Amino acid sequence: MEDLTAFLTRLPKVELHVHLESTMPGELLERFAARQGKRLPRPADRLYDCSAEDLSDFLAFLDRICAYVGTPQELAEAAEYAALAAGEENILYSEMILNPTHWPQFTVPEIIAAVTEGFDRGRAAGGADCRFTLSLSRTQTGEEALALERTMEMHRTPRLAGLSVDGNEALSGRTGERFRPAFLAAKAAGFGCTVHAGESSGPEGVRDAVDLLKADRLDHGVRAAEDPNLVERLARERVPLNICLTSNLTLLYRRPEDHPLRRLLAAGAAVTLNRDDPTFLGGLTLTEELRRAAEFASMTRQELIRCQENAVDAAFCGAETKAALREALAEFQRG
Ligand SMILES: [Zn+2]
Repeated sequence: MEDLTAFLTRLPKVELHVHLESTMPGELLERFAARQGKRLPRPADRLYDCSAEDLSDFLAFLDRICAYVGTPQELAEAAEYAALAAGEENILYSEMILNPTHWPQFTVPEIIAAVTEGFDRGRAAGGADCRFTLSLSRTQTGEEALALERTMEMHRTPRLAGLSVDGNEALSGRTGERFRPAFLAAKAAGFGCTVHAGESSGPEGVRDAVDLLKADRLDHGVRAAEDPNLVERLARERVPLNICLTSNLTLLYRRPEDHPLRRLLAAGAAVTLNRDDPTFLGGLTLTEELRRAAEFASMTRQELIRCQENAVDAAFCGAETKAALREALAEFQRG
């Protein structure tokens, strides 16, 4: 039988949970920094070898990284780079998350225009077909959330797929009620809604995401496994869980055996597999993430294909794009 890595390299892949802020390699940022007369704090190839101090404040480090991107043209370049890198490992379609609070140097309309342009260029040059969601931070106010949603409606492009929320729920507490109006407005406007939950929050965060924010899918969602009734409900209602094994094993589960991936698959949950923060995870590729998941949870090749099909079902794109992705997977299986 074909070697697993060769199989996964050939497999047409779909990714739904990756942060654009975590796709910019040190070399790219070094080039941007030089234009501003700045230097990176470490050599480019060791930029992400974070000290314990950096990791203790991951979001602050992310802000420092994003500050090297000085112009909308450079943001477009970063988006183009991400689309091309995804295409190189046979990711056909990718939805990336971008949180405007990490980019205070740009207005939201500038961000939307630049990322759209970069993804268009990347696609035209043979990269992945990329879309993006704009993400709120859990610490923002309900008014700020509504303002972002309104801006998204006013500056909509075909590559702007939806509204998202991320950030530390353990610190911010339950914020479902606060963000509910913005998510309902986004849904009414035809945007997809995705919510980080069940990572820094437990089952209650997952319930709030589904019941209050009407999330179409969950980024992470793994801690739903702490409540078997909730897992059963998520599987029954086919709520997709965008799981990031390497990220979870780095940040969330001290003991690998506690990760519920196998249990969630066995329960029939609609699992997708994703990288979350590739540059912070040693330049992780999706191919490698899938290989690790396959080994970790003894996944069959059919299960790995099924995760790609789940991602197509959960993607915030039109029926035509989904049909083309399903056909690529069907053709792959026909060999
Ligand atoms: Zn994430």
